[in-house]
Amino acid sequence: MDLKLPFEIATNYSSGSQRIRVMTEYWVNNSVFCPSCGNDLNNFENNKPVADFYCKKCSEEFELKSKQGAMGKKIVDGAYSTMIERLKSENNPNFFFLTYDRSTLEIKNFLTIPKYFFIPDIIEKRKALNVTARRAGWIGCNIDIKNIPELGKIFYVQNGAAKSRNEVLGNWNKTEFVKSTHDIESKGWLLDVLICVERIKKNEFSLDEVYNFESFLKAKHPVNNNVKAKIRQQLQYLRDKNIVEFVGRGQYRLKV
Ligand SMILES: [Zn+2]
Repeated sequence: MDLKLPFEIATNYSSGSQRIRVMTEYWVNNSVFCPSCGNDLNNFENNKPVADFYCKKCSEEFELKSKQGAMGKKIVDGAYSTMIERLKSENNPNFFFLTYDRSTLEIKNFLTIPKYFFIPDIIEKRKALNVTARRAGWIGCNIDIKNIPELGKIFYVQNGAAKSRNEVLGNWNKTEFVKSTHDIESKGWLLDVLICVERIKKNEFSLDEVYNFESFLKAKHPVNNNVKAKIRQQLQYLRDKNIVEFVGRGQYRLKV
């Protein structure tokens, strides 16, 4: 995998953002395979409103966002209302995120986030544009990536180092269990408990360690009065899906 943006193909463009768009799309088209099935990806002709790439074999669609410098905690996206609408629809694309070094044009990070990790909770509403702006009143959004479980961030390139093809395909495959949870509220609980388990940062952990996140979860789900029962239920679900295993006496082990 060549980890450099192809400067030579964008020399005819005068706008910096256009050059980056052309180079990053070219790079994805030539270097990135479909994380779901391993096939080559295709560019959408013209300007399709949301997605940029698709896979002919499994029909997955992908939207590409790129940014110079560090990954950061948030990714700036388009209109808030469009994004929320998309989350409810069937044709919400998966997400590609690329970060590069502006002076060397080296690709530092490239990852995909499967569409089923997108819940309204991770979409942050930005302030409406000022009355003096050309698009006064327009409301954009940020994708809050710190509220996405690590499991849902599948890296092809991380801190300048490329991962193997098998690792990418295997990591995508591990997330498939999230796909079968359709109800937004249940999915919210599932992803939140998964984030808590990841934040313990231990391969083997106790139920009490997950209970330590009770107030964090309560703040996210204020109408629920039995957070501990909900935690146990989600751990049970994660066990059924082979993500954790029970090792006895309130102890669990992470399997992924
Ligand atoms: Zn595919």
